[in-house]
Amino acid sequence: MRWTERQLAMLREMGIDGWYAKRPDPAQADAALVSETDGSPALANRSPSPQPRSPSPGLLDAATARHAAREAAPLRQIGGDTALKDAKLAIVQPSGHRPDGIEIMGWGELRSAVATCTACRLCQGRTQAVFGTGNLQAQWLIVGEAPGEQEDLQGEPFVGKSGQLLDSMLRAIGLTRGEAAPAQQVYIANTIKCRPPGNRNPQPDELAQCEPFLIRQLALLRPRIIVAMGRFAVQSLLRSDEPVGRLRGRVHHYQGVPLIVTYHPAYLLRNPLDKARAWDDLCLALGTARRTAPA
Ligand code: URA
Repeated sequence: MRWTERQLAMLREMGIDGWYAKRPDPAQADAALVSETDGSPALANRSPSPQPRSPSPGLLDAATARHAAREAAPLRQIGGDTALKDAKLAIVQPSGHRPDGIEIMGWGELRSAVATCTACRLCQGRTQAVFGTGNLQAQWLIVGEAPGEQEDLQGEPFVGKSGQLLDSMLRAIGLTRGEAAPAQQVYIANTIKCRPPGNRNPQPDELAQCEPFLIRQLALLRPRIIVAMGRFAVQSLLRSDEPVGRLRGRVHHYQGVPLIVTYHPAYLLRNPLDKARAWDDLCLALGTARRTAPA
């Protein structure tokens, strides 16, 4: 495949040189790489909804203990913007309880449940929960980590610097979170819906409390392909704590839906040399989505 001028411009925008863009056709380069982590039939017929799963004890428990110690510190020592947080502390207390019936909610109900969720301590520091964005017919689901400062303020995922890179990456393979045909559209959701204070890593109990929301989004969207960006998305969806670098480069499956692991855009901003690998991953995702499209 020869790259069009537009694609070359996009690759440059991602910070990938022209020489790299001369690599093989993304639609074919992936065929030899495909392997499966589960053998379940693909969800291409858009039927059974993925069922919510309980958190994996192996992944969650060890760090819950570590987290408990950290929680003893006042929130204002972890985060920064104290006035806002002090005000919120007075009014939003974590309940420890998730809303019931997430697994049967429709989009509207689910969005409200996320907006008002107090199941973990992250409700205390948020400006607002960040539900997800994109067209509900989208065939691609991009899963990130958690809202940052800008996302918390604007209520939309990936609107900061990482989001700019993500949008460039998506444009480079003809995808958008805006209006387009379903095959070109992405829906973007995070593993965690509320901003962790000071952008610290999400804690295992927070991941566990939030997980059913993402699982339900997935079940409602029934995407043709999932791209999991970064280790928290991967931990949640694949139940693996292997590094991203070991999981990328092949096709996994989540409840029968092909899933590609790649680096988180924030990581790529810090490690630009890995953008070429992320490009390979996107090409693999594109080839996989095309192969699984109905004839
Ligand atoms: N990083 C993420 O993983 N998600 C966002 O929404 C923003 C930054």
